[in-house]
Amino acid sequence: MVIVMKATADAADRAAVLERLVECDLKGHPWEGEERAVIAVVGAKIPEGLSEQVESMSGVHSTLRITRPYKLAAREFQPDDTIVRVGKLEIGGGSAVIMAGPCSVESEAQILSTAHAVAAAGAHILRGGAFKPRTSPYAFRGLGEEGLKLLALAREETGLPFITEALNTRDVELVARYTDIIQIGARNMQNFALLEEAGRTGKPIMVKRGPSATIEEWLLAAEYVLATGNRDVILCERGIRTYETATRNTLDLNAVAVAKRRSHLPVIVDPSHGTGKWYLVQPLALAGLAVGGDGLMIEVHHDPDRAHSDGPQSLNHENFARLMTQVRAISNTREKPVELV
Ligand code: PEP
Ligand code: MN
Repeated sequence: MVIVMKATADAADRAAVLERLVECDLKGHPWEGEERAVIAVVGAKIPEGLSEQVESMSGVHSTLRITRPYKLAAREFQPDDTIVRVGKLEIGGGSAVIMAGPCSVESEAQILSTAHAVAAAGAHILRGGAFKPRTSPYAFRGLGEEGLKLLALAREETGLPFITEALNTRDVELVARYTDIIQIGARNMQNFALLEEAGRTGKPIMVKRGPSATIEEWLLAAEYVLATGNRDVILCERGIRTYETATRNTLDLNAVAVAKRRSHLPVIVDPSHGTGKWYLVQPLALAGLAVGGDGLMIEVHHDPDRAHSDGPQSLNHENFARLMTQVRAISNTREKPVELV
């Protein structure tokens, strides 16, 4: 249930409503929107008659029921797009924010070279893994804190904020100390303790869709972060596992359009993990923006054949610069989807 407050409601009105909710074993999340202040009610069961009681309280305009399992993430709860602000950057609301960089931070020379290249080509955010989730325990698993320090150095040199993954709850505090955005990896999408720990840092959190998660499960994962009181949540579609073997994953562009319709959260498209092949990144990147994605995450390496991870899906510097020329052309012509009536 969502309680819509009147424009004239004051702090005492809000406190009285929150207290009434506590009496019913419910939790209220006050939420200042662009046009109205609301209180989202989260709890297992809303007692019969509560909505009528609340509607008669001072300062309350109306209540509305959200039937979807996720509430705070739902478009019905917040009709306006969420805009996540990172410094001067705005992610959401039809932006075309480009996150680019290597799969893993490998060395100072490598991350600085790629950071300068993606910055020169017009990327907005640097990406790079310091803690890497790898299918095999014997594969390169990242430089850890040293990798975070190198990302911070690259930020200092280029001015680009960065995004990096926190792999488990133990690392969240450390990662949050360095990074601008915390990435929750696909394999961790339903690691609920991690979602909450990351959410509580107050940093923007990007939740990648699990390889076999439904859109509803993905939005419920985002709901875990939102329920900590952190509103800066970004979704990322990075491909799901299907019967198809020609590509590493199947980039689900339906999901981008569906998530934009069902949720107010920004959606980033990752055609690198979505296809697993560098030569498919360009067409799917453009498609991701065409279906309404709020930006892209692209893996870039100075020498993909020698990358410690995900070389086959990484663009070299030259191809990334070429892609950016096309991204700029498409983002200049992009408009919000026309409402069909
Ligand atoms: C990554 O971004 O390098 C990564 C590991 O992504 P995913 O969690 O989507 O596999
Ligand atoms: Mn990768």
